Amino acid sequence: MIKKLFIASKNSGKIKEIRAILDGAGIELFSLVDAPNIPEIEETGTTFEENAFLKANAVYDIVKIPVLADDSGLEVDFLGGAPGIYSARYSGPGANDLNNNEKLLAELEEVEFSRRTARFRCVIAMFDGISGRSFEGTCEGHVISYIKGNNGFGYDPLFMPNGYNQTFAELGEAVKNRISHRGKALNNLREFLLFEQKM
Ligand code: IMP
Repeated sequence: MIKKLFIASKNSGKIKEIRAILDGAGIELFSLVDAPNIPEIEETGTTFEENAFLKANAVYDIVKIPVLADDSGLEVDFLGGAPGIYSARYSGPGANDLNNNEKLLAELEEVEFSRRTARFRCVIAMFDGISGRSFEGTCEGHVISYIKGNNGFGYDPLFMPNGYNQTFAELGEAVKNRISHRGKALNNLREFLLFEQKM
């Protein structure tokens, strides 16, 4: 039975989302905000899962309580799955959300809507010092051809999830959390933890 979990993230948005979704599971949550001296772990893996476990295992070695770590990104079919694990650093050194979005728009210039299919993918790894488990979520949609919407972060203003005619940056947090890759991965994690707590 898991009583404590350490979230290997400094991102207050992610921590808030994890806290909200695990509320009532009877687990005490900590994060890198409580332990700011833990160094950044390099994402040297070749898959989301590898990167998530690299972080979870490395942080476990320091904190010695079960750790959650995630990795996520956008896979664009026309680009063979790019930017994928390189989503945060797509436009090279000094990458930020705006120049990543601009690079993606340039790569897809002249590509028609039906061929701009893409998905966000999120993998959450949990490592308790003995065994590891991972939880995945995806959200399918299209990359539109201009920046649209002011909420969110990353590629949100370019991503229109299937079944909606607004981007993640227009849909707002509540809708996004319900249908997003991260929301789905977190729900899978929650189901597992609730099942474990009952045993
Ligand atoms: P990380 O999982 O925090 O390392 O995020 C990797 C990168 O993927 C981010 O910097 C964003 O560029 C992109 N990304 C991941 N999830 C989302 C999302 O929900 N919206 C927009 N971009 C995202």
